[in-house]
Amino acid sequence: MRLILLGPPGCGKGTQSQRLTEKYGIPQLSTGDMLRAAVKAGTSVGVKAGDLMARGELVSDDVVVAIVADRIEQPDAKKGFILDGFPRTVPQAEALDRMLKEKGLRLHAAIELKVDEGILHQRIAKRVADMLASGKTIRADDNPEALEKRVHAYRLQTAPLVSYYKNHGLLRSTDGMASIDEVSAAIDRILGKAGQAEAPARRAARTRKAIGKAAKAPKAKARKGRAAARKRPAKAVARRAPAGRRKAAKTRRKPINKAGRRG
Ligand code: AMP
Repeated sequence: MRLILLGPPGCGKGTQSQRLTEKYGIPQLSTGDMLRAAVKAGTSVGVKAGDLMARGELVSDDVVVAIVADRIEQPDAKKGFILDGFPRTVPQAEALDRMLKEKGLRLHAAIELKVDEGILHQRIAKRVADMLASGKTIRADDNPEALEKRVHAYRLQTAPLVSYYKNHGLLRSTDGMASIDEVSAAIDRILGKAGQAEAPARRAARTRKAIGKAAKAPKAKARKGRAAARKRPAKAVARRAPAGRRKAAKTRRKPINKAGRRG
């Protein structure tokens, strides 16, 4: 299964991706995590991305597309993956379509988590508090100024993907304001339906196959019958004469008795 989780920062994409990873055994591919790792490792990508990320701006499409192209080649992504934070622009979505097409793969759904923007600040503040409480390092972009920019970037550059995937028949939206468990249940229902939508197509293919076989069957039977008749000796075919003629033959065979009658 290949999924995209769509939504603004703080909508719950990360949390739901992790749950889906556990449920389906497919990796969560978070471009944010990959970029943060690159920044930490000081790679050339990290150097390019670091400042942009800290400011809450998007990293360039070609950098992110190259990272994703590499990542989906890894063995653990062969069974499928959950894209979290990618694509974030229409050119990224188009690049993903090309990548998958080249591999003969397809996306199953783009799941949008719809939230009121007002809640995003509260959620990010909670994430910061949780991270501090567990002794983790706070993200450079988890502050009010950067969050403003990230939400702005979402509105401007990422929100058009909702129409993009709607036009591709892949968009499924759910209420991201509900509790974590409720959102998970809604995603399960969406994925269940996506599975069922494939079932009628498979059933139709089976029916077409069965109809094809049935249409061929009578012809084959008739062919067999004709071949058998050709092999049968003529004598066997005309073994019994019709009842009328049999009676006449019997009558003919009876000798005439003294009284001049047959019998
Ligand atoms: P995230 O962890 O998904 O919130 O991403 C954190 C930051 O990484 C974003 O604000 C961007 O600067 C950068 N980033 C992550 N994914 C992408 C992407 N698909 N395209 C461009 N920039 C990205």
